[in-house]
Formats: sequence, structure tokens, C-alpha cells
Amino acid sequence: MKIIGVTGGIGSGKTTVAGILGGMGAAVIDADAIGHRVLSEDADVKDILAGHFGPSALLPDGNMDRHVLAERVFGNAGQLHFLNCVLHPVIRCRVESLIREYRLQGCELVIIDAPLLIEAGWVDMVDCVWVVTAPRNMIMKRLESKKMPRRQVLSRMKAQLTDRERCRLADEIIDNSSDLSGLKIQVSGILQNYMAKQC
Ligand code: ATP
Repeated sequence: MKIIGVTGGIGSGKTTVAGILGGMGAAVIDADAIGHRVLSEDADVKDILAGHFGPSALLPDGNMDRHVLAERVFGNAGQLHFLNCVLHPVIRCRVESLIREYRLQGCELVIIDAPLLIEAGWVDMVDCVWVVTAPRNMIMKRLESKKMPRRQVLSRMKAQLTDRERCRLADEIIDNSSDLSGLKIQVSGILQNYMAKQC
């Protein structure tokens, strides 16, 4: 079984690329979605975060308010570091357990879609790193559909590595500056080459 880590900056198209690979038969692990589940399910994590960020970071139903957390941590390196130190080990544990399950099921290819694959030090979990890039103006335009305020997009960009830093560690760079059909052709070509090299 091979494990490909797909990473990239906010809105670069990681999930779109992971979805294309999923459509080609790969099992996809979405680290962001796992992070959201940890925030709503893990009582220890919620206790630690509520203790640190205060009751205003909790919703009336007892779940963490992700919008309040985002407001507190993006733009504040110390708070972001604290949040990551609490969340990343728990997310990693769940990712590793899914990898074990996929191995038992005999999956050939697993994709880990993880925005912070490099920042979190998870490169050791994968066989190769694919970095998705797109021009900043295109990212801003594409993210309009997600309705994320421009200010939040910019502060997340600031908190992440730059494309240049990510690309230094990349085994493959996916240039997501074309339309979706161009992206599919590119991803399928890179995957074919990669799988051919494994034979
Ligand atoms: P995030 O960092 O927010 O998790 P992401 O890197 O996973 O984002 P996606 O969600 O895949 O990025 O893409 C961001 C937006 O851009 C989505 O609305 C997606 O449909 C759109 N998009 C991605 N690639 C393309 C493309 N090649 N052409 C047109 N739209 C695209």
C-alpha cells in the first residue's frame, strides 16, 4: 500500500485533488474533517480548550465554537501553537488508525488530505508529498464560494508555510491554475507515473 500526502495552502485545491484521486479508486483521509470531529467528539480535548480559551469558545450545546477558535488563533502565533499542540497528536492518532484499517482491507493507495502535513511533522506518515499550488488571486476568487471572509483567508495564509517552503519538500507539485478538466488530466498523469515507478 502506498500513502500520498496531499498538502498546500488554504484554498489551493487539496480537497479537489484528493477527490479526483478518490474517484480513481484511492481511499481518502481528510485530516480537516477529522479535526472537526475531534473538536465535537473528544471530551478531553474540549475540556482542555474550554479551560484555555474560556467558556465563550463553547457553543450552548457544549461543542467548541470553531469560528470563535479561529478568531482567537489566526493572527496570534502563541494561541495557534497551543491549539495545534492539543489537536495534532489526537488527529494523527485517528489518521494512523484509519491507515491501519485501510492496510487490513488491502487498499493499494491511500491519500491523506492535510493542509498542515508539513507544519505538523506528519511527512513520516506518507510515502510521498504532493503539493497543490495556485496563484493567490485565483485562490481568493475560488474561496469566495466558501464565504470565508477575506481577512480570515489572509490571516490563515500568514500562519501557514509559503508555497516556496512547501515545494522544497514536494515530490510532486500540482499546478492548479487551470480548470477542473485540466486539473484532472494533470493529476491522472502524475498518478500514472507514480504508480508505474512502484512496479
Ligand atoms: P481549504 O484550504 O479551504 O481546505 P482546499 O485547498 O482543500 O481548501 P478546495 O476546497 O479543493 O481547496 O478548493 C477551493 C475552492 O476552489 C473550491 O470551491 C473548489 O471547488 C474550487 N476549485 C479548486 N480547484 C479548482 C479548479 N481547478 N477550477 C475551478 N475551481 C476550483
